[in-house]
Amino acid sequence: MENPETLKSRLELCQRLGIRYVSLSGSDEQKVAGESSDTLSYISSAAETTSVPIEPVEVPTDPFERRTPDTKPTNPKWLTAFPESVQAMELLAFDRDICECQNCPLGKTRQNFVFGSGSPRAEIMFVGEAPGADEDAQGLPFVGKAGQLLTKIIESTKTWKRSDVFICNVLKCRPPGNRTPQQEEVEQCRPYLEEQIRIIKPKLIMALGASAAQALLKTKDSVGKMRGKWHDFEGISLRVTYHPAALLRFEGYKKDVWDDMKELTAKYQELTGK
Ligand code: URA
Repeated sequence: MENPETLKSRLELCQRLGIRYVSLSGSDEQKVAGESSDTLSYISSAAETTSVPIEPVEVPTDPFERRTPDTKPTNPKWLTAFPESVQAMELLAFDRDICECQNCPLGKTRQNFVFGSGSPRAEIMFVGEAPGADEDAQGLPFVGKAGQLLTKIIESTKTWKRSDVFICNVLKCRPPGNRTPQQEEVEQCRPYLEEQIRIIKPKLIMALGASAAQALLKTKDSVGKMRGKWHDFEGISLRVTYHPAALLRFEGYKKDVWDDMKELTAKYQELTGK
């Protein structure tokens, strides 16, 4: 259980943001399917052009809303596992609370609010910068070229499938022309990311690129400076690596990303024995 002061400031923040639903539950034993291996296959930067398959799962009737018996339960595209879990209910309610956000001007220009995608009981979270054109069009994170490469990177560990982890961004709306997020946008949107992390309670976080790492660690340091060591986000170990889009532009980052993923899987095995 959180200490009363932290809880009070979270509740005040949620009130200010107009969020009606907050995660208060304690930690919960979580499990990720998939075999573990210390032999990682090689990360290829040659992203394919097909879109990333995200399997929707059956979601039970929303307990927070009354429905007539013939109303079909909603089936959000982003929920890839454990639809019946407490965390799924909390994330669904949180998404519903924030998905019409107009706290910054990006609310006016977006096509879709991109909440995130993956397992609500993920033990690993990958955090990127902001949706691009493909993500804005589909309402899902990392589904364009960089997303396809991210999927390959995750699955090359032989430890996780994309559907086992949770992927999201610092900004939930696309900045026009994919420009770098502005500080005020990050300030407005960061509480949403922080609340997602508090609901999911992953064991590890991988920050993809400078925007994600700087927002989570509240620093201006470069990726080069932040890489190669463990950081802390509210008691969760956090690692920093290059953004997959940077890897697509500069193949020289491949070995560094590979090393970072090996550190992530080694830490995961150390923490879970899996
Ligand atoms: N780049 C990001 O940082 N996030 C996405 O969702 C897509 C591309």
